[in-house]
Amino acid sequence: KLLLNKEFFKISLEKMAALTEENRDYWTELDSDIGDGDHGINLSIGFRGVTEKLQENYDNSNDINDLLKKSGMILLSKVGGASGPLYGSFFMKIGKDVVGKNEVTFVEFVDMLKNGIEAIQMRGKAELGDKTMLDTLLPGLDYLELHKEDEDSIKVLEDAVAIMKQGSDSTIPLVAKKGRAMRLGERAIGHRDPGSASSWMLINVFLEEMKK
Ligand code: ADP
Ligand code: MG
Ligand code: MG
Repeated sequence: KLLLNKEFFKISLEKMAALTEENRDYWTELDSDIGDGDHGINLSIGFRGVTEKLQENYDNSNDINDLLKKSGMILLSKVGGASGPLYGSFFMKIGKDVVGKNEVTFVEFVDMLKNGIEAIQMRGKAELGDKTMLDTLLPGLDYLELHKEDEDSIKVLEDAVAIMKQGSDSTIPLVAKKGRAMRLGERAIGHRDPGSASSWMLINVFLEEMKK
């Protein structure tokens, strides 16, 4: 049975930081089309802050929640844009039911994602179809909840990530009801929401690490 330990989450955070550097320009370009052109820059600043702290070995405890919560607080405090508080709350809340644990099962992992995604929704008040990162995250979460007990956990997450990717595609024809792109009205049609792209790619890091 798949067990995910604190090292898994630590490495995932480091890989997310690396992914963010690789996609900084892409995410920023998406945001130039329908926002203010800083989404990749924002996440790069945030995850550089997280990496710095990880290198300082600031978290010596064996507590998964500690690591994730502190990382979320860094994202929240370092990132100026909307995505900082949103991703910040995701990481601040994903560990709230695993306080003191140093490993979790796949079912617990899915419950963690649920807590994180609910925190994004609580903070941003967006719904499915508003052309935000939730168009990526909510359909994937629904799938995970239905299949979290299935035999092959990695396949379940793989399918969920594929659904999230489609969720990002689904933002292209939409008018935005939340975030900066709202101001564009119909001119947002034909453009992918930047946060919908970064969010499936970041969740995909967990999948890549699980495969190892
Ligand atoms: P800003 O818009 O402040 O410049 P970013 O460019 O970093 O911040 O992030 C923009 C992304 O944040 C959007 O593409 C969208 O996915 C997400 N977003 C914005 N507002 C909300 C919201 N209320 N709920 C969920 N996601 C949101
Ligand atoms: Mg922006
Ligand atoms: Mg901005």
